[in-house]
Amino acid sequence: MNKTADLVIIGAGAAGLMCAATAGYQGRRVLLLDHSDKPAKKVLMSGGGRCNFTNLNTTPAHFISANPYFCISALKRYTPQDFLELVERHSIDYVEKGLGQLFCANSSKDIQQLLLTEADWAGVDLRMKTSINSVTTTADSVQLTTSLGKIDAGALVVATGGLSIPTLGATGWGYDLARQFGLDVLPTSAGLVPFTLHPELKTHLAPLSGLSCKISVSCNRQTFTEPLLITHRGLSGPALLQISSYWKAGDSLSINWLPDYQLLATLQALRQHQPRAHFSSWLGEQLPKRLATALINLLAIQGIKLPERNADASNNQLETLANALENWVFKPAGTEGYRTAEVTLGGINTQQISSQNFAVNGLEQLRFIGEVLDVTGQLGGYNFQWAWASAVACARGL
Ligand SMILES: Cc1cc2nc3c(=O)[nH]c(=O)nc-3n(C[C@H](O)[C@H](O)[C@H](O)COP(=O)(O)OP(=O)(O)OC[C@H]3O[C@@H](n4cnc5c(N)ncnc54)[C@H](O)[C@@H]3O)c2cc1C
Repeated sequence: MNKTADLVIIGAGAAGLMCAATAGYQGRRVLLLDHSDKPAKKVLMSGGGRCNFTNLNTTPAHFISANPYFCISALKRYTPQDFLELVERHSIDYVEKGLGQLFCANSSKDIQQLLLTEADWAGVDLRMKTSINSVTTTADSVQLTTSLGKIDAGALVVATGGLSIPTLGATGWGYDLARQFGLDVLPTSAGLVPFTLHPELKTHLAPLSGLSCKISVSCNRQTFTEPLLITHRGLSGPALLQISSYWKAGDSLSINWLPDYQLLATLQALRQHQPRAHFSSWLGEQLPKRLATALINLLAIQGIKLPERNADASNNQLETLANALENWVFKPAGTEGYRTAEVTLGGINTQQISSQNFAVNGLEQLRFIGEVLDVTGQLGGYNFQWAWASAVACARGL
């Protein structure tokens, strides 16, 4: 089959579907291709099945990129309120959780359906299970050879996302295509990903799998105060997922197990007001009991022993204990990698891409949007907001 289209988009995920619908409404003949069997698989899996589809507090500061100014223009031109309006037009129930995060009240399927309905209304020709074999360009067009046959198009938008979760259809195809056209691809790594632990720590924590508590975690001048979750493989939960995007192999993490306390002053007050009690009882009231016991055992291994009675603690001992619990430093073994990561850090260097219409500098007919670019949001709905905003800016700039 020989086909022609004004616009071919590769990748029917969040960004590709949004770009296709927007361009279709502008009267473009849009062909949207994806190698997977189903569109928007990550949308379906997202937010624990309830898709955290945007964040009302989105600012450029919520994104990690070697070029932090790149995302500003698109985010300004398509805001969380714009996407929320679309959600409301489709009568989708949603809830606001902490920190401005908006989730579907029922199911992620609602957002997947919204995207498919919009693409359908906009006349988009969506073809799944389609592989792309080659891409070439002329001065004002693009030629593709695909499992559907040859395709001629006025422009090509690449929305193939990052490397996270290959079982959901992720590939490095977008990076390879960028390299084919001489673009620089910055090193990629897994972000928003659980940590794995060395055996000496895992032995103590793995039996507590499922326990969760609020902590602060710091690394490379970033701190997040959110829940930590112990898993049978290591540490996860929002705080650890967030910090994983700032962590590099070999770095240490510092955990404050009691971020709501001025710990030294609290321990001093306990010594004064509950002299016969034991600090471990108090710790067991602040943290899940089994976790408190494990921490006390780990402290003992480091040579930090709690006195028999609070009254017996010296000032030095209290300082050491407060410091150990507020600044519990350890080196993770690594992360679970792309197998479970929510996002991919790094990607196509945005220095070579227009922040107005996402075209490659000097090659208007080739564009890249969404996660394939070196723009990665923090946890909380920012990554979808980037997918929507980059898609709309690209389509409007065609
Ligand atoms: C488990 C999980 C939960 C998440 N939860 C949230 C959340 O709640 N909120 C949030 O903001 N973000 C969340 N994210 C991140 C978010 O899903 C991504 O940032 C977003 O989907 C990126 O959009 P995209 O369109 O750029 O890429 P994707 O959505 O990944 O879409 C890429 C598409 O390209 C297709 N493709 C890839 N390679 C090829 C190829 N060679 N040929 C043809 N097609 C190809 C894929 O099949 C896919 O359909 C989550 C991610 C994961 C993995």
